[in-house]
Amino acid sequence: MSEVSAQPKHFLSDRVSHFTESVIREMTRQAMLHNAVNLAQGFPDFPAPAEIKKAAQDAIAADVNQYAITWGAKNLRGAIARQMQTWQGVPVDPETQVTVCCGSTEAMISTLMAVCNAGDEVVIFEPYYENYGPDSILSGAKPRFVKLRPPQTPHGEWTFDEHELRAAFHKHTKAIVVNTPNNPTGKVFTRPELELIRDLCVEFDVLAITDEIYEHILYDGTQHISMASLDGMQDRTITINGMSKTYSVTGWRVGWTIAPPKITDAIRKVHDFLTVGAPAPLQEAGAAALSLPPAYYLNLAEGYRKRRDRLVPALEEAGFQCFLPRGAYYVMTDISVFGFADDLALTKYLVKDIGVAAVPGSSFYRDPRDGARQVRFAFCKRDETLDEAARRLRKLRRA
Ligand code: GLN
Repeated sequence: MSEVSAQPKHFLSDRVSHFTESVIREMTRQAMLHNAVNLAQGFPDFPAPAEIKKAAQDAIAADVNQYAITWGAKNLRGAIARQMQTWQGVPVDPETQVTVCCGSTEAMISTLMAVCNAGDEVVIFEPYYENYGPDSILSGAKPRFVKLRPPQTPHGEWTFDEHELRAAFHKHTKAIVVNTPNNPTGKVFTRPELELIRDLCVEFDVLAITDEIYEHILYDGTQHISMASLDGMQDRTITINGMSKTYSVTGWRVGWTIAPPKITDAIRKVHDFLTVGAPAPLQEAGAAALSLPPAYYLNLAEGYRKRRDRLVPALEEAGFQCFLPRGAYYVMTDISVFGFADDLALTKYLVKDIGVAAVPGSSFYRDPRDGARQVRFAFCKRDETLDEAARRLRKLRRA
């Protein structure tokens, strides 16, 4: 018998040493621990629409309780394809182009694993939703960041430098991740910006992977434009979306990809072996949700517009400098006025002493110093929740 070593060997993969647990999810745990108002993780604290909860209950009662087809229930895929045609004028074949996943989170990582090889690079606008970094690393690719610069005027827009973006593209670039409407900045990419990205994708033969999960959450007359609707992008765009944000069901974990057939085949393989499929009865409810009348989407956006306009003045009154979001349900703020050492020091103080959880800006940047003066608040909350946060934030002292 071989001798049992007292020293366990190094059991972990090298891969996992390159990133940490999600800070956004950690802040939710902190909020629970300190009984703080949770304006950190982006999930609604109000009920999901009654019709779709009923559709889910009916599906369970009707015994839609076994696996759906791996790449998604036919009903839901059909509804996804119809929606893309209706909203964006993009024809989609639900049989060959749609893959239903466990949330857009799985859709993104399955996509990256389906298209990336070791040594490939993925261009990501920064600040970025924190999953994209680890997603790229787990798929073997190297993330390459291009800065989104904060507005220079109180109600201006986040912008990027065309030359900096071009410089990020080269022969090892496999894809660019575009998230519009954007988390955490609230930027809604304009047509000229998307066309510029399109031209680079075509010139360098690069894929666009677009996270459009906030497509219906738009303010101030902004318009969501899908990358896949641009001339020349049909064969090189993977559109990612899901039910979580549009239908206020972040815990259902139903998301999807829309991609050209060959890429869809590859995504379906990865998805099958990662998760087999998304919850079957919730996919049926998804088909019902995606058939809600157009007024639903107008109300959704208007409801969030009101919440934005409730939280932003309260944050400003407390001393935060807000970058007004044009879409999605987050507001990025500048915290310089408070004189804290950095974003982590302030968010720690906020959650423990003030009783409001927010996300430190550094979790949206590769170099934490770039986010050291920023904090993100989510406003997908009931009026009472936002008002309670505002009440607590009044206790915050400026330096
Ligand atoms: N998108 C949400 C956020 O940025 C979180 C989503 C998640 O935690 N899976 O807060």
